Parts: sequence; C-alpha cells; structure tokens
Amino acid sequence: MGRSIVCLTFDFDAISGWIARGMNTPGPISRGEFGPHVAVPRILDLLKRHGICTSWYIPGHTLETFPEASQRVADAGHEIGHHGWTHRPPATLTPEEEEEELVRANEAIRKLTGRPARGYRSPSWDLSPHSVDLLLKHGFVYDSSMMGDDYMPYRVRKGDVITLEEPAVFGPETALLEMPISWTLDDFPHFEFIRTPTWILPGNMNANKVLENWVDDFLYLRQNLEWGVITYTFHPFVIGRGHRMIMLEKLIRTLKENGAVFKTLEEAAAEYLQRAAAPAC
Ligand SMILES: [Zn+2]
Repeated sequence: MGRSIVCLTFDFDAISGWIARGMNTPGPISRGEFGPHVAVPRILDLLKRHGICTSWYIPGHTLETFPEASQRVADAGHEIGHHGWTHRPPATLTPEEEEEELVRANEAIRKLTGRPARGYRSPSWDLSPHSVDLLLKHGFVYDSSMMGDDYMPYRVRKGDVITLEEPAVFGPETALLEMPISWTLDDFPHFEFIRTPTWILPGNMNANKVLENWVDDFLYLRQNLEWGVITYTFHPFVIGRGHRMIMLEKLIRTLKENGAVFKTLEEAAAEYLQRAAAPAC
C-alpha cells in the first residue's frame, strides 16, 4: 500500500488581497473580515475535531491587522508560512521591494512563532525572476506557488531564458524545493464571485460537484503512485461559508476513509527530502 500525503493549506489573506487589487471600500473590506471574525474559528474547530495539522500562509498585513485570529491559528499548532506583507505578487515588485516584503513579514512571523517561516507561497502565485535567489538567501526550504507537477515535489530552477521566438533555455536546479499547487485544487476560482468593469469571475459553483473533482484527484494519487503529496488550497473567507464547510468536512472524512496521511507542507517537504537522500535499494 502506498503512502498518500494530504496537505490542507489556508491562505489567510483577510482584507489584504482586496486592498492589493485597489478594492478598499467597505464592501470588499467586510468580505475579507469574514475570514478572521467568522471563518477562522469555524475552520480551527473542524480541524481540531479531526486532529489535523495544516499549513497557513499569512500575509504580514493580516498578521498585524488581525493578531488575535493569527495567534489562534499558531496556538492550535498549525504551520505558519510566508505570504508576502502586502499581498502584491512578487512579479509586480522591484527586487528591493520584494526583499523588503520578505524581511518585514518574516519578522511578524518570528514574533508570532519564535522562528522565521520555512515555507513561502507567493501572493497570486506569480514569482519574479529574483524570487528564488531571495528565498534561498532568507533561509526558505520550500516554495509553494508553481504547477510543474501535481503529486511530486521538485527542485526549483533559476535563470531560465524564455523568449517568444527562440527555444526556451532552462536554468539549473537549486536547493529550493517546490511543493506544487494547482488552480483546480484552490477554492477561490470555483467559489468566489468578483465583478470589475472589465471582467467577471463567476464562482459560486456547486460545492458537491467541486468535491467530486477534489476526491478524484486524491484517488488518482492513491491508485497510481507509491508515494506522493496532494495540496489543497483554501481561503478562510471563501471556504468558511456554511455549505462549503459541510463540503470540507465531507472531503476530510472521505480522504481519511481512503487512507490519507495528513501533514503540514513543511513536514511533507522534509519527508520528500529524506526519501530523496535515502540510497536506492
Ligand atoms: Zn493570498
């Protein structure tokens, strides 16, 4: 029987994601506030009942605006990872701004947990050309922002040369580990409704239909790989609504019934590195 690891991860953006998009009027702010005020206690209660430790990527803006909710997450034993300070994607920042964000949010994480983050997840999942070097410089073990695999961690490259009219030239692998994610396993595009003057994200999918996809992605891992990791991404203000909380509990129960091993991403990364270092027999 193989070992199928499940990482439940939460991007605790609260109001920071809306502000980063320039949406700072009372409507979107209230939408973000639903996370720390209502959803986080519900989610923590569910995870406690099921005895599951998870990974939370918390922007510095959330850590310093909602310290009590952030403290509750840390006190419950969940991993606290880095998710920028302002929730602006690194690809939109200068290298200096990107490093400032890394340092400032890591300081807030150190205050909360006593140590800097080991894991990084970029806001909106878009790294800059400088991100890998900066993450290695600041002691990160893993990133969780890319989609080059589904169930298998891999080493992050740097120095790729990508142009429109020439074949891509891929750079060397680095020590940074990628714990891959996917938009298909993220609650936001399935459920969140956003309307702007130029585009609409319809969201509001039937939660039980999404559940079918999410269970099947786990079953494929279970049935086809000897060892692997599946990472689900949730946002408290998205998943914390009643029908979605019922779906999240169904997901947890079904995964348990099918032999899932629940870990934080930091633990799963450590297990991968240990396996990769073991001599082949
Ligand atoms: Zn986020």
